[in-house]
Amino acid sequence: MSERQSLLGTRAAELDAADDLGKLRERFTLPDGVVYLDGNSLGALPAGVPGRVADVVAREWGELLIRSWDESGWWTAPERIGDRIAPLLGAAPGQVVVGDSTSVNLFKAVVGAARLAAPGRGELLVDATTFPTDGYIAQSAARMTGLRVVPVEPAAVPGALGPDTAAVLLNHVDYRTGRLHDLPAITAAARAAGAVTVWDLCHSAGALPVGLDAHGVDLAVGCTYKYLNGGPGSPAYLYIAARHQADFDSPLPGWNSHAEPFAMSPGFVPADGAVRGRVGTPDILSMLALEAALEAWDGVRIEDVRAKSLALTDFFLECVEAYLPAGRVELVTPRAHAERGSQISLRTDDAAAVMRELVARGVVGDFRHPDVLRFGFTPLYVGFADAERAARTLGHVYG
Ligand SMILES: *Cc1c(COP(=O)(O)O)cnc(C)c1O
Repeated sequence: MSERQSLLGTRAAELDAADDLGKLRERFTLPDGVVYLDGNSLGALPAGVPGRVADVVAREWGELLIRSWDESGWWTAPERIGDRIAPLLGAAPGQVVVGDSTSVNLFKAVVGAARLAAPGRGELLVDATTFPTDGYIAQSAARMTGLRVVPVEPAAVPGALGPDTAAVLLNHVDYRTGRLHDLPAITAAARAAGAVTVWDLCHSAGALPVGLDAHGVDLAVGCTYKYLNGGPGSPAYLYIAARHQADFDSPLPGWNSHAEPFAMSPGFVPADGAVRGRVGTPDILSMLALEAALEAWDGVRIEDVRAKSLALTDFFLECVEAYLPAGRVELVTPRAHAERGSQISLRTDDAAAVMRELVARGVVGDFRHPDVLRFGFTPLYVGFADAERAARTLGHVYG
């Protein structure tokens, strides 16, 4: 080991000792000996979740039965938990509702955006490198609403906006490259052009400040099983800015979106507020697991999470450069902080095999087709020693 390399181990220990968020790791249950850098795909298990889920099943369901819809607060869970997530998104209460998958919420949001847009506008701008589900749903929503999908690089959106732009669907952070797009500037440009914005926050919520209200975003969606640690398949959320709520016309009006669901009336009257983004009976077990998971955020400022995330990814890059032979991997994620999410993506030959080998050695990241190694840094439970060990192990794989 070179002197530079042993210094990195010492630095990691010093950085962890000085890290105020380091103690939050106790709020999670993680297997011993594993460096978990896949929390951008499936967040770790918050320590309070198993007990809470057991209570929901045994007492709220087993004993209280149907009474729990009211007495255990099941019925209002979608908007209550939405309000719990809202501060992490920079949203005032009453604008976020939890339920369904991100894919389904994308459908509601994109069709809803098309219906909010000024009549006669024909274009739906969509992130050219978007996550597949966003692209598929945008295509279908466009067919249904008579819009044309125009693929565009997010950075080029301001130049692509025009009098024919109805709506814009973008990812805040690119899932493959980890590039962070300029939400404030793009949203401002879209607003100035009279277009409705829909942001997908799957890879930013819980990792960095989003500022939905401050930046005038119209609609947003995101999942809760990544940086929010809600558990496999936990329900997603939909943000409907207060100024649009009266006009938001959901393409999936269910009885849960009705102003008086228990009136059981044949005519649809949408509920006021974000509640109209609900559809059918919520998935209570996953929903309440998510609510318990969000306790891991008690007292945590998202600005501090962002600062640690950048420090972690900077340090990981420094270690990668020290431990790997030059030229073995190519950095895909931007170095500039303003353009970086909370992951590092490295391009390499044999990425699938390299990741398998890393996982076998206790460093869990993931592989994205065709040649990307992805390492997600979740500041609530990943530390600097983890970053150092991950890079050192990667170095060993390249032997
Ligand atoms: C993870 C992710 C999704 C997932 O959608 P599901 O409906 O939960 O499967 C969608 N969009 C983006 C950008 C994602 O990163």
